[in-house]
Amino acid sequence: MNFNHNHLLKTLVDTAPSGICILNSDGFIAELANEKFLQIAGRREEDLIGKSYWETFSEVREQYEDILCHVVSNNKAYHADQVPMILMRNGKQELIYVTFVYAPMVDLDGKVHKVAIWVQENTKEVMEREKDTAFNNAMKIDRDRLHDYFLQAPVGISVMTGENLLIEFVNPNYQAMLPGRSLVGRPFFESLPEIVDTDIAQALTDVFKTGLPVSFRDRLVAISKEEDGPTIDRYFDFSYVPRFDSNAQVDGVFNFAFEVTAFVHSRRKARQESNNMAQILDMLPASVVVIRGFDLVVEMINDSNLAYWKKTREEVIGKPFLEILPDLADQPFASQLRQVMETGEVIDVKESPVIFTNADGSIRETYVDYTYQPLSDLDGNRNGVLVMSFEITDRVHARKLLEQYANELTATNELLAQSESRFKFLIQEAPVAIGVLQGKTLIVETANDKILEVWGKTREIVGLPLASALPELDGQPFLEILDDVFATKEPFYANEIPALLEHGGKLKQLFFNVVYQPIFDQHDNVSDIVIVAVDVTEQVNSRKSLEISEQHFRKLSDLVPVKISNALPNGEVTFFNQGWLDFSGLSFEDLRDFGYFQMIHPDEIENFQQGLLQASKTGVPFISEMRFKNKDGQYIWHINVASPVLDAQGELIMWVGSTTDIQSIKEEEQRKNDFIGMVSHELKTPLTSLNGYLQILQLKLKQDDGLAFAEYALERSLKQVRLMTSLTNGFLNVSRLESGKMHIEKSTFDLRGLFKETSDEYRILFPNNKITAKLSDEEIPVYADRQKIAQVFNNLIGNAVKYSRAASDIWVTLEQIGTKARVMVSDQGIGIKQEDLSRLFERYYRVGNTTVSGFGIGLYLSMEIIERHGGKIWAESELGKGSKFFFELDIYQN
Ligand code: ADP
Repeated sequence: MNFNHNHLLKTLVDTAPSGICILNSDGFIAELANEKFLQIAGRREEDLIGKSYWETFSEVREQYEDILCHVVSNNKAYHADQVPMILMRNGKQELIYVTFVYAPMVDLDGKVHKVAIWVQENTKEVMEREKDTAFNNAMKIDRDRLHDYFLQAPVGISVMTGENLLIEFVNPNYQAMLPGRSLVGRPFFESLPEIVDTDIAQALTDVFKTGLPVSFRDRLVAISKEEDGPTIDRYFDFSYVPRFDSNAQVDGVFNFAFEVTAFVHSRRKARQESNNMAQILDMLPASVVVIRGFDLVVEMINDSNLAYWKKTREEVIGKPFLEILPDLADQPFASQLRQVMETGEVIDVKESPVIFTNADGSIRETYVDYTYQPLSDLDGNRNGVLVMSFEITDRVHARKLLEQYANELTATNELLAQSESRFKFLIQEAPVAIGVLQGKTLIVETANDKILEVWGKTREIVGLPLASALPELDGQPFLEILDDVFATKEPFYANEIPALLEHGGKLKQLFFNVVYQPIFDQHDNVSDIVIVAVDVTEQVNSRKSLEISEQHFRKLSDLVPVKISNALPNGEVTFFNQGWLDFSGLSFEDLRDFGYFQMIHPDEIENFQQGLLQASKTGVPFISEMRFKNKDGQYIWHINVASPVLDAQGELIMWVGSTTDIQSIKEEEQRKNDFIGMVSHELKTPLTSLNGYLQILQLKLKQDDGLAFAEYALERSLKQVRLMTSLTNGFLNVSRLESGKMHIEKSTFDLRGLFKETSDEYRILFPNNKITAKLSDEEIPVYADRQKIAQVFNNLIGNAVKYSRAASDIWVTLEQIGTKARVMVSDQGIGIKQEDLSRLFERYYRVGNTTVSGFGIGLYLSMEIIERHGGKIWAESELGKGSKFFFELDIYQN
């Protein structure tokens, strides 16, 4: 390249309208740059020319070095349009936008020997535009991010657009829930015709209309997996969430869905199983207990078994068998249990005696039929035993008794006459009811005193058929059962069987444990039946009355306005009354599982636990104020009394909790405290200035110019005294009102006249505010307490001034509406939130965070005054726009 070329180039470069820099192609040394380029680059010529371009612009090297190399090797220009770039301009880091070109320049041989960089700065335009589009961009970024999220989300997501809910997008998870179905590009209801005409369809359409999301949990949707496949019951958690366009109109709906069919099934099954299990166990007439491990720990037990052991559930669950029943240690059960676990064999024993020692040291001899069955854990290891037993003590006793008599009978066979009477004597003396019925007609052949007593009959019935001896048995099952014993030759046993028997002319319900034992003749036919009966009426009744009294207790506890709970010493809750269920919004089971402690405010748990510990030691109830969370998630203050109930030995047997809502008392207390704080503050202010004026006055009076100031100070002082008088009057009125001593002295006067009179005072009191009055043309007579109504005016106008900007306008209108006089005081002040409006008239109520001083009694007094006149007072307001206060009184009609 000769000089001319270079010169030409330089002229071109210098006069070009854009920034230009020329680099040589090896090493990218800057050879030439025009003023414009330097300006955009923010560099001095001497820092650029003759130097490596990338050393100069090291801050963008990483971004553009490769590109530039590419331009050289491929001989192809590179354009960048309005790209952002962070450059060090004049030593300062700046974000700029540039449009630039790397243009290769070839020599005569066609080789790229230089690169021209053309550059224009667009920072300003971009920024302007950016401002407008920043929002859109942010949206776009959000959308992109959303899109990624949608694709990867672990739930099914679909996006539906437009009123016909065209499916615009589904993520892989969504598609997987409906494999083979074509979704995207089709209207939702066309893809899922099963949904049409269901309430789900309605809910979806409503989302579009209302813009409110809906969600469903564990919702049954009968839907096939593939299109046209068979419909099956599937369960989903899903929601429809509206999507809004820039005009806040719903333009689409997101559907988030998660299939929970498997969970629902397994949950249901588990619930069913455990429920079934517990129900079956308790329904069984047998005693059942599950024992685990070599220590023979009781894992599960039913009611019947507990009754047999005479233990409570908490005395046994989780405890070793021999610890629960140490007196069984020298009986064979423990070793049999271990044997079953070791060998896996089943042990089946009939009529085994089991001997317990009662608490008073006496012996309780019982008989049981029992089986021990081995149980395995999930891994198949034998580690438990299912024990099932039937107590047959009564049966065995009855049989033994019978056997005894039968033996007696045989032994004395030879001495028949004697033995007969002896047998009868034995029967007669027996402590249980015994009778012998003879033949199919059931003639009462023998009846001891005891049986006559329970039958309520005299010896006269001996010799009669049972049906005529006890005519009340007609319609009861006994005669039939006895016939059956004849026919089947099988004895009959029953416990706690109810019978209606006539005692002294009255039918009485009694309960018996009975045995009907057939007696055979030499042909092996039934000749007689021996009845052995034990009257258990008292036990049954006392158990029943216990059940009834428990029921009564529960009813009662549901009716009291207190929350009551009952818990075992280990904290397991056995009862929550209706008050708790209503408060928590949960069922008993859910509340028990969710846990009492979950409802307690976290700050109070520790103190509560310590209190319980203390109470369980001392037996003194623990009383505390604490917060419990209600169904809306709000913590409500309660006074909670946790009373430990101890047995005679001082052992804790249960907890009774009674919990009373004291939220409103707390709030009232708080307001009162605030009030007292405020009163002290408010009264101090005028007192302080009074004090100040009086001190200065004293000082000044000693000086010459005292008198001029005295007038001023006295005026001020009087003003403060007046203020304080009106403050104390306010309190006085409240206390009068509360003690029922507020006096209303009525007279007939003109409301308009009263207003006119008082308005002069307002002009002096509030010289800065323009008070415009629109009064009715005529007089408005009312029969009321003039002074008190004036006080209401004062309060309303005083508030209108207080809660407005200085010097704002206030309007007062006084008009006649039918038979009422209506006064309105309206201002352009700070206004009142809707939720505060109804509470303004409460005593001590002040809208939160107002900086204006006051006590919150003005409106309360005003309301009381107006209501005592049979009138009405209310407010309307819009926050920030001003308030209107109204009151109405009857017009006086003469
Ligand atoms: P006080 O003004 O002494 O607080 P009031 O009983 O007169 O007591 O008023 C109760 C509350 O009602 C005030 O604290 C204030 O928050 C609100 N209030 C009363 N009048 C107005 C009004 N004109 N504009 C806005 N808020 C008002």
